[in-house]
Amino acid sequence: MRITGTTRLAGIMGWPVTHSRSPLLHGFWLDETGIDGAYLPLPVRPQHIEQALRSLPILGFRGCNLTIPHKRAALSVVDRVEPLARRIGAINTIVIGPDGSIEGRNTDAFGFCENMLDMVPDWNPRAGPAVILGAGGAARAIVAALAGAGVAEIRIVNRTLDRAVSLAHDLSTPKVTISISSWDEVGTALRDAGLLVNATSLGMAGEPALVLDLSSLPPATPVVDIVYVPLETDLLAAARRRGHPVVDGLGMLLHQGRPGFEAWFGAPVRVTSKLRDAILATLAPAQ
Ligand code: NAP
Repeated sequence: MRITGTTRLAGIMGWPVTHSRSPLLHGFWLDETGIDGAYLPLPVRPQHIEQALRSLPILGFRGCNLTIPHKRAALSVVDRVEPLARRIGAINTIVIGPDGSIEGRNTDAFGFCENMLDMVPDWNPRAGPAVILGAGGAARAIVAALAGAGVAEIRIVNRTLDRAVSLAHDLSTPKVTISISSWDEVGTALRDAGLLVNATSLGMAGEPALVLDLSSLPPATPVVDIVYVPLETDLLAAARRRGHPVVDGLGMLLHQGRPGFEAWFGAPVRVTSKLRDAILATLAPAQ
């Protein structure tokens, strides 16, 4: 990479930010496209997020990504929030307009949908209810994605009832029914499901295991785990043994970066096996 006087700038704000794979992801695409651009890690403490975001247009940045702990706080700082990000309740991508205005977007729903198209192109959103484990930030983006894709019934299974209730309240539409189940009821929820998604942190390295009896899940139902460290979670291994189509979490992570890159650097990019391997190599030591 060579920085010139005309290099286009973007980056990722987080605290901490050292764990983020986004600089590698965008660096890969910058190398591949040959664009005169740079994508930087931007360590920003929670109390400085407003100043940091307001500095972007002043410093000539095209935008940035946001990670923990800024995704919700940024909602009240930016000039405009895309309606989808407002419904999800989190911003992960900032785009600076030609007039210097700051727009917040959420690309996790896009990342989830694109990964489904890549990995299970035959999956039919109308095949049956989708069961989503979790009601956190990722689950909210996935529910918005599935509602947009035409899923008519979504069943949320979450430990904390209030969080599931607020998800259902914020993301229900006339076209999608969102119901809530406790973990005790998960076997019943799976019975006629057309999709199962783990959007909890259970099964992630350092977190408790996700122990789930899949025996009531119809055999052709795809099983998605958005946890990506490790890539092959116990849930995916169990689903694979039973013959379910399985989708791991890496593709969603890669696809969610595309809209930001395209907005800041002006070129379309793809998720290829070469990119997947490059990022996978950085995940391997933690597995
Ligand atoms: P979050 O907002 O903190 O939500 C965490 C979810 O996990 C909540 O539903 C929480 O339930 C549940 N949970 C945590 N510990 C639990 C336990 N011991 N028992 C039962 N439920 C438990 O986190 P998030 O941002 O949604 O992320 C969730 C996972 O998705 C993380 O592993 C993250 O790395 C991954 N992720 C992947 C991608 C991708 O692109 N592949 C994108 C975003 C996130 P309560 O509400 O009861 O606390």
